[in-house]
Amino acid sequence: MKWDGHTHSEFCPHGSGEDTELFIRSAIKQGMTDYSITEHAPLPPDFLARCAGAQKAIDTAGISINDVEPYLNKMNKLKQKYRSQLNIHIGFEVDYLSDYENWTRDFLNEYGLYSDHSILSLHFLPGSGGYRAIDYSAEDYQQGIVSFYGSFQFAQEAYFGMMRHLVKSDLGIYKPTRIGHMTLCRKFKNYFTKEDTGFSAKTEQLIDYFLNEVVIGEYALDYNTSGMFKDWCREPYPPDKLTSLAVKKQIPLVFGSDAHFSKDVGRGYERFERWSAPDTQNS
Ligand code: ZN
Ligand code: FE
Repeated sequence: MKWDGHTHSEFCPHGSGEDTELFIRSAIKQGMTDYSITEHAPLPPDFLARCAGAQKAIDTAGISINDVEPYLNKMNKLKQKYRSQLNIHIGFEVDYLSDYENWTRDFLNEYGLYSDHSILSLHFLPGSGGYRAIDYSAEDYQQGIVSFYGSFQFAQEAYFGMMRHLVKSDLGIYKPTRIGHMTLCRKFKNYFTKEDTGFSAKTEQLIDYFLNEVVIGEYALDYNTSGMFKDWCREPYPPDKLTSLAVKKQIPLVFGSDAHFSKDVGRGYERFERWSAPDTQNS
């Protein structure tokens, strides 16, 4: 099995706009057997009104509610068209928003039946002026999150505190069973040259709680390689130290390129393969 479990489509407002068919053809060329299309689910309008910071980050975070059905229809057509060459799975990358669990549960109840499996990710945290996107730009992260919490470490602790809520949240029977890029708070870590961007004792404890909840809830983790190619990050989500912990706890990892461009499908797969070779699991 060779599976890219996290990719986007032409419906993504911050994507390349290329036809999803190009992504699929690339996956087939690379010998993938399975391919998940996990488009950003819509965000509650009331939530968007309470966001601050870079307007573009807010406006392009998810697809419009009017695009949900066209998205599902188009992806289902592609799934049928390519069914002899690739197992295409259709779903969403759903945002965890602690104040909007009911809204999210309603969305999942409405569309869960029409999707195969989805990812639950954290892209927003309370910050300066309201909710802030955490993955838009280094400057926006610095202004909205790091300065709000006081340091990179405090921000990281706030992120993992919220990740625990994410795992434990009741989003109903269609709650996604995989958790997206579990260390997205590290996307801009190399920008903070004067700060400690490692893992404080408190962060390590929060991560341990988080991973234990992942085990209890029988979730899988997105082994997301996109961070490896970001200038300020240069590590996968999660980095080796945490991947090793997850492997020890026998948490299933699913490779995800998080491709928003067709050229990025399957990117970094060899890094993921290291973790499936039995003799590297304890290193
Ligand atoms: Zn995206
Ligand atoms: Fe994401």
